[in-house]
Amino acid sequence: MPETPKISFRELTPSHSGVLVVLTDEGLRMGRVAGRALAPAGDLLARAAKAEGFKGKKAMALELIAPGGLAADRLIVMGVGKAKELKPSDWLKLGGAVMGKIPPAAKAVTILLELPGDKISAEAAADFALGLKLRAYRFDRYKTKRKEDDDKDRTPSAAIAIAVADPAQAKKRWQQRAAIAEGVVQARDLVNEPPNVLYPVEFARRAAALRKLGVAVEVLDVKAMKKLGMGALLGVGQGSAHDSRLVVMRWSGGNRKEPPLAIIGKGVCFDTGGISIKPAASMEDMKGDMAGAACVVGLMHALGLRKAKANVVGAIGLVENMPSATAQRPGDIVKSMSGQTIEIINTDAEGRLVLADVLWYVNKRFKPKFMIDLATLTGAIIVSLGQEYAGLFANDDKLSKRLAAAGEATGERVWRMPLGPEFDKMIDSKFADMKNTGGRHGGSITAAQFLERYVEKTPWAHLDIAGTAMGVQPSEINQSWAPGWGVRLLDRLIAEHYER
Ligand code: MN
Ligand code: ZN
Repeated sequence: MPETPKISFRELTPSHSGVLVVLTDEGLRMGRVAGRALAPAGDLLARAAKAEGFKGKKAMALELIAPGGLAADRLIVMGVGKAKELKPSDWLKLGGAVMGKIPPAAKAVTILLELPGDKISAEAAADFALGLKLRAYRFDRYKTKRKEDDDKDRTPSAAIAIAVADPAQAKKRWQQRAAIAEGVVQARDLVNEPPNVLYPVEFARRAAALRKLGVAVEVLDVKAMKKLGMGALLGVGQGSAHDSRLVVMRWSGGNRKEPPLAIIGKGVCFDTGGISIKPAASMEDMKGDMAGAACVVGLMHALGLRKAKANVVGAIGLVENMPSATAQRPGDIVKSMSGQTIEIINTDAEGRLVLADVLWYVNKRFKPKFMIDLATLTGAIIVSLGQEYAGLFANDDKLSKRLAAAGEATGERVWRMPLGPEFDKMIDSKFADMKNTGGRHGGSITAAQFLERYVEKTPWAHLDIAGTAMGVQPSEINQSWAPGWGVRLLDRLIAEHYER
């Protein structure tokens, strides 16, 4: 685990040292305690704000180095905009924006989390702290020549004290959020890892570390999967020097008789496309083709750590898709665990082959309340939705609506796409029960139709995260190539609807 800032909560008093952060609304109004903290500086702040044209707009900051009269060696005044218009989800982003202003070399930071008027809730303070933590993330373990003064790559390691109206409650809430932060960090780390390090067996080994948190972990090897008849998954991995794995993780925090919620992830540790090889440009990004599986591991991590009161099964299919003398060919016909046969048209449409067997296996073994799968499944979803929304496909309206609401609340947004028999027809095959591509038109939809043939009547949602889970624009709460997409979304869904 990388060094990250240490966060604590304390009473709202003006005392501070090192870096001092205060909030202001549009109109430059501050809370009483902040006012007292800044009083010794006289009109310094008003003059600086005027000189800078700083008005307290949301996520805009005014910075003063060694401000006269104050103990702080740096003062950061963070604007929140119109205080009345602040939404709960804004506190996460504000935390991220503040972290973005704290120099990585800072040792001690005091944040006076206060505005004029109503007290800032413990909930908001915990969200704010989550934003700090997520923004501070760096993936720098392979940088051996890191310069001490190169701030860009350094993980901030300051001790951050957040002064807030109700520190005891805030700390309690933070314990839950800290678990989520760790889950997101775990998912980011896995996605960022290079593919020579993180191949299926190694990925399974890292997932197995969840046992420390009380998560039951089973790892199925090639022999076990052969016995189960998982010809679709195994066909994808057969060209690789690295063996495939299926990992099943179980968190049992709910009632004993309650059927589990199942979360399934695509874990293609590297996707060359196989014999239908991809072009060279940006192929390195295909180390992220396991982001669905990374999300599942991160989620199980968060659930275990915060001792979620729900039964959740996470299952990930781990393979490497390589071209070689033993690789599967276009034209091959494989038999899935379900008994249904699949004609391989394009070996680069491999994710659905992996998921077909994992979905079927999970459904038969656990009879879950629902199944949600996450997969960097199609480039077509990026054409449709860009990188702001994941594609959502579902056979169940209630699950779909709950996911959409959790998406709005967390900022990990999903957009529902259609399914239907007209699309399903497009994957019928001349030689087998189905083929693994439906052609260019509606490529994300025909991929989802393929998956639907493996879920029977179980409520199911498929999230196509090819656009949201890697190579994203930096944001207030994420500066990394891999945002750890989906951990917060699914944690929220479970917390809101499925915990006793
Ligand atoms: Mn592919
Ligand atoms: Zn893929």
